[in-house]
Amino acid sequence: MAKYVMALDAGTTSNRCILFNEKGEICSMAQKEFTQYYPQPGWVEHDANEIWQTQLSVARKAMQNVGASYTDIAAIGITNQRETVILWDRKTGQPVYHAIVWQCRRTADMKAELMEKYPDIADAAYHKTGLVFDPYFSGTKLRWILNNVPGVRERAEAGELAFGTVDSWLIYKLTKGKVHATDFSNASRTLLFNINTCDWDDELCKQLEVPKSVLPTAKPSSADFGESDPEFFGGPIPIRGVAGDQQAALFGQTCYTPGEAKNTYGTGCFMLMNIGDKPLYPNNGLLTTIAWGLDGKVEYALEGSVFVAGAAIQWLRDELKIVDQSPDSEYFATRVKDTNGCYVVPAFTGLGAPYWDPYARGSIVGLTRGVNKYHLIRATLESLAFQTSDVLAAMEEGSGVKLSALKVDGGACKNNFLMQFQSDIINAKVQRPQCVETTAMGASYLAGLAVGFWSSKQDVIKNWALDREFEPEMDADTRAKELKLWKKAVGTTLGWAKD
Ligand code: ADP
Repeated sequence: MAKYVMALDAGTTSNRCILFNEKGEICSMAQKEFTQYYPQPGWVEHDANEIWQTQLSVARKAMQNVGASYTDIAAIGITNQRETVILWDRKTGQPVYHAIVWQCRRTADMKAELMEKYPDIADAAYHKTGLVFDPYFSGTKLRWILNNVPGVRERAEAGELAFGTVDSWLIYKLTKGKVHATDFSNASRTLLFNINTCDWDDELCKQLEVPKSVLPTAKPSSADFGESDPEFFGGPIPIRGVAGDQQAALFGQTCYTPGEAKNTYGTGCFMLMNIGDKPLYPNNGLLTTIAWGLDGKVEYALEGSVFVAGAAIQWLRDELKIVDQSPDSEYFATRVKDTNGCYVVPAFTGLGAPYWDPYARGSIVGLTRGVNKYHLIRATLESLAFQTSDVLAAMEEGSGVKLSALKVDGGACKNNFLMQFQSDIINAKVQRPQCVETTAMGASYLAGLAVGFWSSKQDVIKNWALDREFEPEMDADTRAKELKLWKKAVGTTLGWAKD
């Protein structure tokens, strides 16, 4: 009997491998960073071969740590940085260019050009793909490679090239070129995939000049993605789970009922809410995305992202130098009873959902002579909770569901002050699980469910264990006043960098 499911967690700065047992416990973990390339301001690239080599080495390391052989592993689940684009030669497996990373802004002008050429493209794309027409997603990045790397368009038209997000690339490498596939959750981030019909969209492919021959087969997230080649782990291991990182985290947090939501507090914040088996298009700054395809069904989620969250704590640490380490922010914030009327809006790179203002810039408002560094630290931490509250309000409006509990994960969810304030400001419980490796966990669940390692979602839910629950303690008047002042503070940042 196999003892583990292997999760390959291909992140933006590092790749990890975790072996989970049946109880969802971490039995082994290995992690390795890889190179970030910044060839021009605003451009971000990775070396796809390095991504593969790093991922393979941590997978082998995780197996070695516990002396596991391939027969000990029931299945592989893959989760990955989303939207990042790789284009490679089907025969040789050689990428034709570096991977263009989701953060890369090189296609900002292309977006404007396409919107001029096709005035309806943004609206049509939203109703087909659930996405905002933005350079962030894969479509324009793929078009950039096709149009800018010499000879590539001809090779693509001739059927010689394969496109994929990082999941597809790893599947291709693991199967030694036998399988070229992706899952619905990753496909739904490309701007090329119709989330209503679960198929690549002819018109968007045409408008973005993407030959359909380069596209991978899109499958449910818990499905047959082939077997790893025996060369890698001593024998074949079935690949049975694939999901983009945020959707995998939603799955790992066992948000299986419509209305359940999770928020990840990392560099930025990503909130996803399960909305069931029909997409909604609230048109209020949120994305609609496929959560996963499972058991012959597709489920959808609303998604809202905050660009600067934990990064604001890094700013306190690295630029202001008023904390030595991010976790110290908790101690300092609790040295004072409030922020003394001060609000920090860390709109360093504009504002994401629900404002989508690229011209917003950060501000500190409400300063009086008595505001000290503790107040400033507290106000910065509170800004993570306020931004989350704005996204949640849009989600509640968009879904018609009032959230009763928010499940949390990510580095900054360990901050108890922040979690209590979060609960206070959204007037809902905040639940932190014992295992916050929810992304890898979600990928392993999707794979394990496909091979019967776990029998059903109910079986998996049993593994979710509470570390701590935070309940709202703030009175309604204070909450209303706080939210009003926060909104006023946000108002000072909007449009700041516009001519
Ligand atoms: P990512 O996956 O985006 O790299 P992580 O989930 O590893 O992020 O979280 C790291 C982020 O969380 C950093 O930005 C860091 O400043 C912040 N962070 C980590 N621990 C704490 C803490 N105890 N309090 C506040 N912020 C924290």
